[in-house]
This record gives sequence, C-alpha cells and structure tokens, in this order.
Amino acid sequence: MKLLEERIKKEGKVFEGDVLKVDRFLNHQIDVNLLSELGAEWKRLYEGTEINKILTIEASGIGIACVAALQFNVPVVFAKKTKTVNIAADVYTSKVESYTHKTTYDIIVSKEFLGSGDKVLIIDDFLANGKALEGLIQLCEDAGATVAGIGIAVEKAHQPGGERIRSLGYRVESLARVKSMSVEGGVEFCD
Ligand code: 5GP
Repeated sequence: MKLLEERIKKEGKVFEGDVLKVDRFLNHQIDVNLLSELGAEWKRLYEGTEINKILTIEASGIGIACVAALQFNVPVVFAKKTKTVNIAADVYTSKVESYTHKTTYDIIVSKEFLGSGDKVLIIDDFLANGKALEGLIQLCEDAGATVAGIGIAVEKAHQPGGERIRSLGYRVESLARVKSMSVEGGVEFCD
C-alpha cells in the first residue's frame, strides 16, 4: 500500500536491533485518517470472507484494530498481556516472546469473548518473527474459533515470521512489506 510505504519512508526511523519506529503516526501519535485507510484496505482484501470478530494484542494493536472494526462492523477483542501465570479457568492463555523487550509474557482472552463459531480476523501493527501471531492463533485454536485471516500493517519480510505463518496455511495480508532496512540506508520495500 503506497500510502503507508510513503509515510514510513518519510517519518519512520530505523534503530539498531532491526527495529522500525513509526511513533509519528502509528505507535505513539496516531494518524486516525491513515488508520482508516488501512482498515478500508483490509476490508477490500477480505471482501467475501466471513468475519465476525477482530482479535489483536495490547497495546499498539488496539487502535488499528478498532478503526478496522468500523469497516467490518464487528467487535474488537484484545488479548491482555500479563506477568502472572495464574491460569484461571475462565480464560484462554498462551505465551509470547516479545520482539522489542526480549522477554516472554502470557497473553489471555476471556472465554466470554472468544469461542467456537467465531470467524476471526487477527490484526497487528508489526510482523517480525511471528511470535505475537503464533500466540494469538493459539488462543483461537484453544477457543475452537476459526482464523479467517490476518491483517498486518508492517511486515518485516526479511524476518522469518511471515513465511512461517503463511506456511502454516494462514492468509496474511500485510499492507507494507519491508525488504530490508538499516540505520544508514533507511527502509526498502518489496515490490
Ligand atoms: P513478532 O512477534 O512477529 O516477532 O513481533 C511482532 C510484535 O513485536 C508486534 O506486536 C510489535 O508490537 C513488535 N515489533 C516487532 N518488530 C517491530 C518493529 O520493528 N517496530 C515496532 N515498533 N514494533 C515491532
């Protein structure tokens, strides 16, 4: 999606450790009009696919998911991050290795909000090694819900997550796919 790529080129900043910061429009200050365009694009891409719920992960996925949900007219459920491994009977839980913090945390979703019969679109801001997506997919599997598709704003295609998740049979629609990036050279996108 050209609009997102241009915005990343103009305002994204690359940091050591293969981290792209998009704090000017996505992860700190939020350009809601841009998010609205992302939502419309996922809606176009998933036209004809049955979706009754959007699932994301706190915190940075929530804004994107909510704006996308306006297009799909479905509720958003966000997985909560927790440090307590206190597995309650009323939640689904899985583990996620954090890309940015290099720690592992648990994510939970209440059984009240995810269940069999749900056709879920998973939305997140970034895809790197695919750990966040694996955790969210696990929650869906445990709940007996179907993953109807995945929408990612920025996929770092030089990292292994996208290929791994697609090889598991999931449809992943990323709106900007980074081919390479460096502190000196900036960001290059896939064709
Ligand atoms: P993964 O689990 O695919 O390795 O990483 C995805 C998660 O880590 C996303 O939810 C996102 O919050 C964070 N993340 C991964 N890479 C980046 C990055 O380059 N920039 C930012 N801002 N977040 C990232």
